Amino acid sequence: MQAFKLYTAAKNLQSKIMDITSIIAPLNDAQRAAVTAPSQAMLVLAGAGSGKTRVLVHRIVWQIQVNAVSPQSILAVTFTNKAASEMRGRIENLLDNSANAMWIGTFHGIAHRLLRRHAPEARLPKDFQVLDSNDQQRLIKRLLADLKIDEKELPAKEIQWFINEQKDAGLRSKDLVNSDDKNTIRFLRIYREYELLCDRSGVVDFAELLLRIYELLRDDEHLRRQYQQRFSQIHVDEFQDTNHIQYAWLTLLSPNRDNMFVVGDDDQAIYGWRGAKIENIYKFQSEYPQHKIVKLEQNYRSTGAILNVANKIITNNKGRMGKSLWTQTADGEKITVYNAYNEVDEAKYVVERIHNWVSAGNKRADVAILYRSNAQSRQFEEQLMLTKTPYRVYGGLRFFDRAEIKNALAYLRLLANRNDDASFDRVVNTPTRGIGLKTLDAIRELAHEQKISLWAAANSLIERQVLPNRAANALFNFVNLIEQLERKTINLTLGQKVHFTIEDSTLMAFYSQDKVEKSADKVDNLKELVNAANAFKRDNSEEDLSELTAFLSHAALESGELQADEFDDCVQLMTLHTAKGLEFRLVFLVGVEEGLFPSQQSVNNTGRLEEERRLCYVGITRAMEKLYITHAESRRLYGRETPASKSRFLRELPKEFLEEARPKSDVSRPITAKAPIFTTSKLPPEIKTDSNYQKGQRVHHATFGSGTISSIEGEGTKERALIKFRDDSRWLMTAYTELTVL
Ligand code: ATP
Ligand code: MG
Repeated sequence: MQAFKLYTAAKNLQSKIMDITSIIAPLNDAQRAAVTAPSQAMLVLAGAGSGKTRVLVHRIVWQIQVNAVSPQSILAVTFTNKAASEMRGRIENLLDNSANAMWIGTFHGIAHRLLRRHAPEARLPKDFQVLDSNDQQRLIKRLLADLKIDEKELPAKEIQWFINEQKDAGLRSKDLVNSDDKNTIRFLRIYREYELLCDRSGVVDFAELLLRIYELLRDDEHLRRQYQQRFSQIHVDEFQDTNHIQYAWLTLLSPNRDNMFVVGDDDQAIYGWRGAKIENIYKFQSEYPQHKIVKLEQNYRSTGAILNVANKIITNNKGRMGKSLWTQTADGEKITVYNAYNEVDEAKYVVERIHNWVSAGNKRADVAILYRSNAQSRQFEEQLMLTKTPYRVYGGLRFFDRAEIKNALAYLRLLANRNDDASFDRVVNTPTRGIGLKTLDAIRELAHEQKISLWAAANSLIERQVLPNRAANALFNFVNLIEQLERKTINLTLGQKVHFTIEDSTLMAFYSQDKVEKSADKVDNLKELVNAANAFKRDNSEEDLSELTAFLSHAALESGELQADEFDDCVQLMTLHTAKGLEFRLVFLVGVEEGLFPSQQSVNNTGRLEEERRLCYVGITRAMEKLYITHAESRRLYGRETPASKSRFLRELPKEFLEEARPKSDVSRPITAKAPIFTTSKLPPEIKTDSNYQKGQRVHHATFGSGTISSIEGEGTKERALIKFRDDSRWLMTAYTELTVL
């Protein structure tokens, strides 16, 4: 017996040693010091690719396997859903076990989960709905209409920005001092009305999720204690991008200030424009005096060339904590810079490179195209589609943001909560069912006057028989449709509910008509929504929610995550902001032009320019093996074609690590206002020297349309003509411009 006990103890010890070895073996000394440190306030401050996220993951596993911390006590917060699911995956891999019991998610996701558990304490209806950013804007638009404020004078977007800014700073309308300034008074009034409307409708916007949970924990001592005890280990990735309310919430949870493990990089702070505060790093250090700082300096992600270029560009920023990164990896390939004629040429170039990459046996999923603004994705999508290359766009108009999906979801939301005004507004006459503007105005007015929901107002108008017959019938049909749908689907599965909703609402029939633009896609998307509903599973924390409510919250919070092609081998397209924390073997950083990147709004503001530069640093450091940077001579964006020049960021890169790409020989002559800079011997420029254009002549340009030559000067390749087009006048170099004389 004794021998057996000894044997078991020895076995246990052996397996514990194996656990410990497997956790710390893949770490360097500095990383190991962070992972194995005793529980205290820890700050890992280090540059890109130095293993911060790896350290955080190993720290969690260490706490569980070595320090016997219960998985339920683990809270880990990160910045995007993609990062959260990657973190969960890595932890599960190391543990060889499910990480379900841990709370791993984004700030919004975790706030949402807590609010669901404590809706009554937070003064919310149990089935409250989450408004995403578009829904929020719609609701504000409606409010402005109710308040008879002209949107041209005060755009909804501005109000939305104001409200979210206040909430992120922890301020309610009642906390804001009324001023004499007419504008401020107006903003405050709208903010107050907006709060009332949201409460009445049982809806919560993204910023509200954070503020509500902060207030709840601040004011409810019992609950606060409960969660302080529960989350004995708190971990935060990308700490440099936390905002005021997120930080305040974290400190509520960590009263002893010894259980916070945060990792970040001041050089990657890219959300200042949305209220993130780099100062939180300093605050952490002063508020947690017993803290320990660990710095990591070896980069494991990128080649020497990529790392050198990244290190160099960031030195142009003044306000830095200052770090340097080194790598053991060889320099590898130089960074290729391609100067495209225009955005089409740029996209073609990139897609061709991707083809070469795939033909050489590499995976598409290892390739990322990163851009500054969502609108840039379309050109790449077009080229990828033309060449039948599977791709996936993160962010932008994501699956759950598409109009047809939002319409279907609005019906479903009304089923779950009749007071959801935003949804009522969205679908009461979509597809059209003869409910005119007058009827809608009457509903809105009554709702506004009596402070009731649009749904209640509509019912009241029907009952009181104050509407003209036709209008009353149409409205009755709508109300009846929703009531019937609920009755009919009450015992059905979520998938069936979604199916009947898109059929009975006639959305499916509507989008099946050829008249609707891109109708086939829309029908496919609606079908995909049924698939998504069929595949949907509530997580543990949502068991007491109806499946429908859980699904709708998921749609609002995790837009894009359910795209069908998530696991396919496809090229990844995303903004630089979305790429934070991720890595790819091959990266294309595109549209690196003045006015686009850095963005126009930032070029005259040092603080914002530095934030753009950090964004560039983030972009460069996503690349593991090979980086391409592209820019165009002329770009059509937001419907306008404008000449472009290369970004100052490109000029800041050390030349010895760059190589210029040669243009392809099959590129047709540009149709841009500027001369191409590539006039190499491989591509003899085809230049007209004698144009014969005359003042007063009518000409046509493929992009700018028809116009009249109002002036002409210079000769040969230097000849330029001032042409008055419909919108504005432009100087064009005639030698390089294709004009048809009319
Ligand atoms: P970012 O600042 O971009 O978020 P990070 O500091 O979080 O980067 P990680 O993503 O954790 O860095 O690590 C970068 C890459 O280096 C990953 O592929 C990771 O697996 C690898 N790596 C980190 N540390 C080591 C190590 N000690 N040995 C081998 N590979 C490592
Ligand atoms: Mg990371």
